[in-house]
Amino acid sequence: MAETETTTRPKTASPHPGGPHQWSNWSGSVTARPAQILRPECENELRKGVAASQGKLRMCGAGHSFTALAATDGTLISLDNMQGEVLDQRRDTSGAVARLQAGASLNSLSKALLAQGLAFKNLGDIDVQSLAGAAMTATHGTGQDLPCVAGEMRSVRLLTAGADVIEADDTSDRDLLDAARVSLGALGILTQTGLSVRPAFKLHRKSTVRKLADIMAQADDLWDRHRNFEFFVLPFCDYALQLTHDETTRPDMRKGASNDEASLRDLRLLRTATKRLPKLRRRLLNTFLGKTKDEEQIGTSFDLLASVRKTVFNEMEYHMPVKGAMDVLAEVLHVIERTRPDVFFPIEVRKTAADTGWLSPFEGAPLISIAVHAHQPDDYMWFFELIEPVFRRHGGRPHWGKLHSLGARDLAELYPRFGEFRKLRAELDPKGRFINPHLAKILDVSAH
Ligand SMILES: Cc1cc2nc3c(=O)[nH]c(=O)nc-3n(C[C@H](O)[C@H](O)[C@H](O)COP(=O)(O)OP(=O)(O)OC[C@H]3O[C@@H](n4cnc5c(N)ncnc54)[C@H](O)[C@@H]3O)c2cc1C
Repeated sequence: MAETETTTRPKTASPHPGGPHQWSNWSGSVTARPAQILRPECENELRKGVAASQGKLRMCGAGHSFTALAATDGTLISLDNMQGEVLDQRRDTSGAVARLQAGASLNSLSKALLAQGLAFKNLGDIDVQSLAGAAMTATHGTGQDLPCVAGEMRSVRLLTAGADVIEADDTSDRDLLDAARVSLGALGILTQTGLSVRPAFKLHRKSTVRKLADIMAQADDLWDRHRNFEFFVLPFCDYALQLTHDETTRPDMRKGASNDEASLRDLRLLRTATKRLPKLRRRLLNTFLGKTKDEEQIGTSFDLLASVRKTVFNEMEYHMPVKGAMDVLAEVLHVIERTRPDVFFPIEVRKTAADTGWLSPFEGAPLISIAVHAHQPDDYMWFFELIEPVFRRHGGRPHWGKLHSLGARDLAELYPRFGEFRKLRAELDPKGRFINPHLAKILDVSAH
């Protein structure tokens, strides 16, 4: 396949003047032509727009899902004009709860929270997603005591397909709250959520290249010892990158910071040069990585947790039971190294605490997430043919926003409350206005 460097993002939710609208997700793998795009500036305008519209409705955040969750040829709704200040804050038994605009980006909300001396407890790799989009797919970071974004929700405010406002919190309607946490935009439009937050804090970030076998053997201990621990596995290499974040009050520091984009480019060039020589690739990678120096940074929590991802890729991530997760990782790596010499993107491994969302992958137990990536425009069909069967055989649940092939029957086996979710969805949206072909498949509902 052609080697092109793709460093610019496809446009999201950009109207074509005078013609149909063109929408594409971040990786360009999903495109759609909505008949209209609504960009309300307040909830009242949103309500009027929904009441006045006919036919299908879908919501999009930053378009960072790899699955076709947001695609529609009907009305696409973006709340990105309802950006983010902190609407109010209160304290409950779990600490501070901030009521936030759900359409705002995590980054703008982090800044708004910081202005009030507050912070998100955790973030994933990036923070350009909308809070609503991140919640709807159970977006997560890493840390064994830290749940996904949706797990931190204490209240929700939704606009239904019939343009009614419904609200729930952990005292008034716990079931609706737990159903809505991770609801794929199938129950209603999330306009606001009360999120459990904490006082602003600084982190000490440390990245170290170590023998993969050692990291895997010590993974449980590393998750115990560090607030955030994750690791990146390089195919065809005996070393991996260990990344930790721990809370600190020390002064800001930046020592030996490297450039992820340049590292990915070098890995891609090496892959191309040694495609038929995996042993040479391993030798070169081992020699180079064995000499890599540690990097350290101290700074504001969200600056260090989230990065900017410019190199465009496609991704599959499954969340695996903790017991046996390292064996699954070893199997995935073995399959890639045996059959896919074109793969150069690191495999990311993280852990997330349990929550109570009916469709949260982390419902009921903490899980270890294993993510495989393919540089865009490289082939990614091997995710489905080679990797997904391994994840499925070991009882994994897919990330809702990342590539997977599961349908309603498979999902019903993975989620004890799947039937209740389907029933509630039918009550809240009897005409199926929020149903697009992707949701029709995963929820087993007619798309028409
Ligand atoms: C470069 C990159 C890095 C990533 N890193 C991580 C990571 O570290 N951890 C992780 O878990 N995931 C990660 N993801 C996946 C990403 O966080 C999720 O796919 C997330 O859903 C994207 O948020 P978004 O705002 O782009 O939402 P979209 O992808 O636009 O939408 C996601 C879902 O939310 C619904 N939705 C959007 N707004 C609303 C609303 N107001 N009300 C109701 N439903 C709504 C949409 O209809 C859709 O179903 C990453 C993706 C990319 C491309």
